[in-house]
Amino acid sequence: MSSGEDLEMEQAGVAPAMAAPPAVMELWTKALDIIRDELNELVFKTWFKDTQPLGVVGSDIVVSVSNTWGRDWLRNRYSGLLSAALSQVHGDTMGVRFVVRSASEEVVAEIMEPVEAQPTPDASVQDEAAPVVRSAATHAVRQQAGPAELNSRYTFDRFVAGDSNRLAYACALAVAETPAFKYNPLFIYGGSGLGKTHLLQAIGHYISTYHPHLRVRYIDAQHMVDEFTDAIRSKGMEGFRRRYRENDVLLVDDVQALISKKETQEEFFRTFKVLHDGQKQIVLTSDRPPFELETLHERLVSRFNHGMIADINPPELETRVAILKKKLESEGGLPVPGEVLTLIAERASGNVRELEGALIRVKAYALLTPGKTITVELARDVLKGMFPERLIRPISIQTIQNEVCRHFDLPMVDLIGNKRSQNIVFPRQIAMYLARELTDMSLPRIGAEFGGKDHTTVIHATAKITKLLGEKKEVLNHVQALTTVIRQKS
Ligand code: ADP
Ligand code: MG
Repeated sequence: MSSGEDLEMEQAGVAPAMAAPPAVMELWTKALDIIRDELNELVFKTWFKDTQPLGVVGSDIVVSVSNTWGRDWLRNRYSGLLSAALSQVHGDTMGVRFVVRSASEEVVAEIMEPVEAQPTPDASVQDEAAPVVRSAATHAVRQQAGPAELNSRYTFDRFVAGDSNRLAYACALAVAETPAFKYNPLFIYGGSGLGKTHLLQAIGHYISTYHPHLRVRYIDAQHMVDEFTDAIRSKGMEGFRRRYRENDVLLVDDVQALISKKETQEEFFRTFKVLHDGQKQIVLTSDRPPFELETLHERLVSRFNHGMIADINPPELETRVAILKKKLESEGGLPVPGEVLTLIAERASGNVRELEGALIRVKAYALLTPGKTITVELARDVLKGMFPERLIRPISIQTIQNEVCRHFDLPMVDLIGNKRSQNIVFPRQIAMYLARELTDMSLPRIGAEFGGKDHTTVIHATAKITKLLGEKKEVLNHVQALTTVIRQKS
């Protein structure tokens, strides 16, 4: 935890040792009064007596409880109810996050890092906890902390514009500067790992900062499909519609996920129409252009076609080097000689995710080598397993899972199951990391392949392994060895 993040938390009003501001305290007390009426006294006392509001982050109230068990129970059972009560008191949509009251660091870490999702008994609860950027009520907080559900690295100033992505970049920036004025809808398409999510979230960050009165929601289309299914099952369509339609800016990532289901398309079309007719901004991304979304609703395609369509292509060598330089600038760490950057950029020519992965490994390897210097030889050595000379077929997630199981001598049921002991969680996180790096799959798809886990679990896993790579040689060895066999098997 860096001191910068600590500072952010303090600015956000979530200093763990501090009592919550009176307004937050009052909000929480009033919400509990509503809930008390709906629960029997014993239940209420058991779970809520011990809760303490800490502050507000984004549009969520952060509440501490004394143990992890209580936290998980409240999160799984009562998030929906609480969110409804809070929204009623607050007059605007509000969510709730639970943290364990212990060392202050733990509290802060809990909020800043995505939490590994617990299997939820009632799927509709996840609905309530879904990532949402909400209204401006708490914008002062949001400006400092950034909308929690957007990746804080995905901003315009960290995006390198080059020939391959200039149009998409310019359109995204224009939309961010003047939402619903130009290019509506904006449709960005291109292959995996080329920066679509980065640009989409950059729009979200920009609007939250410079147009704080506007409501922005970023959503992965697969998540939207899941929410829709849950809403039908739990008869919560009204809430579902509200969450989507009450936005000034809707950012939908990977819309190709919508083509699988006719009902979702129908619903999405109506939502889209309501927003578009109401002069609200919509931005969509996809791995292919609208006309290739074969089974997609004709009316949808035609609406997409009425807006602006921008493609993103794989970056040229020069842009790849510039991206690596920008990453080093913002992340610091060991100095990397220019010729090493060029070598990485030459080898990792497919997409930017691959490029970043290669840089992470080279840096990690050097950190763990005596002398801690990055040389061309060292880089060549590291990259050998990652980018073999011969042509290879796309890597399947099954190959990754099989090889991880074999490597760690773990049964597949455990790898994709819900057990949380360290000897199982670690290989699972490695497998998720490799799936993210070596395949084109989206976060929700990867989660689905691991027994239906939430996409935040995948984000958490990749962040964790990325961090460990630079700290433990053993972790790097696992990842390197696995990459080599996985490549060979493909
Ligand atoms: P996509 O959504 O198209 O699959 P992402 O937006 O997830 O791709 O990008 C993959 C990674 O590459 C992210 O870490 C992103 O920050 C980075 N990236 C992609 N394009 C650029 C760029 N032009 N400049 C800087 N970073 C980039
Ligand atoms: Mg993406």
